[in-house]
Amino acid sequence: QRAGTIVKALSGYYYVAPDEGADEPFRCRARGIFKKKGLSPLVGDHVLFSETEHGEGTVDEIFPRSSELIRPPVANVDLAVLVFSVTEPALSLSLLDKFLVHIEHAGIEAVLCLSKQDLTMAEGREAEEAQEAAAIVRRIYEPVGYEVYGTSSKRREGIEALRERLRRSVAVFAGQSGVGKSSLLNTLVPGLALETNEISSRLGRGKHTTRHVELIAVGDRESGGFVADTPGFSQLDFTELGIEDLGYCFREMRELAPSCKFRGCTHVHEPGCAVLAARESGKIAESRYTNYVQFLAEMKDKKRRY
Ligand code: GDP
Ligand code: ZN
Repeated sequence: QRAGTIVKALSGYYYVAPDEGADEPFRCRARGIFKKKGLSPLVGDHVLFSETEHGEGTVDEIFPRSSELIRPPVANVDLAVLVFSVTEPALSLSLLDKFLVHIEHAGIEAVLCLSKQDLTMAEGREAEEAQEAAAIVRRIYEPVGYEVYGTSSKRREGIEALRERLRRSVAVFAGQSGVGKSSLLNTLVPGLALETNEISSRLGRGKHTTRHVELIAVGDRESGGFVADTPGFSQLDFTELGIEDLGYCFREMRELAPSCKFRGCTHVHEPGCAVLAARESGKIAESRYTNYVQFLAEMKDKKRRY
């Protein structure tokens, strides 16, 4: 028996990349016992498998999952790379916070990636705005505890540092369409050729047609780093989030909440609120607080309507 990771699922077969050795993934069937238990193997599962004939095998055992993402359906994801471009499309802090709320709620570590850094180098208004956007993101999010990576797929800059971060994680990329996720993945993973926007518009079809998710190895096999070749967190409504959860999805508020006078403080009007005090003194970024209040209002509004 060997241990490995399911990197692809297709037509009833599970492709298992062994943890050790340089073999290609083994094409495996799952043992019948899983079906009886109502358990079905997922891409990202860490498994034990046995080789039956050359390049083929059987999945015998699935190790417990640390997380289970629905979109894309991948188990054990432990890192979300949230990609935002410095411009084109323009930076939206509200959207950035919304993504972060969903990632925090899923219990997955997040890092920020500011893409298209080459657009800050040129001269002119647009470049200045791009520089400004990059500076704002660093100023707001680094103190909160998010690592910020700057990359340019066009100039192949900042790629090595991000690849290093990906080495020991099962990662999924997230971010709005057009920020350069596919270009970044193509630059990060030699040999990968995901469709990017210009190609798909030339062919006249959308690039996000339903397809199967596949995990791509980053770096050497021993480090166990994988990225999903499809972006995650595509659905950003607050339906599965409780109003009382929202404060926990903002890291700096989560840290302060125990110091609030009242348990279950919503940090909006309560006396003795540590979050409101931190906002007063400028320790919490204004945009973060404003977005929190805005999301809270959106959630309350939804509740009223249903
Ligand atoms: P996705 O929708 O997030 O996967 O974005 P794509 O990778 O398809 O890229 C969207 C557009 O941004 C395409 O026109 C790319 O050529 C462009 N783009 C991607 N990366 C860069 C970059 O590093 N610099 C510049 N200037 N443009 C980029
Ligand atoms: Zn409070």
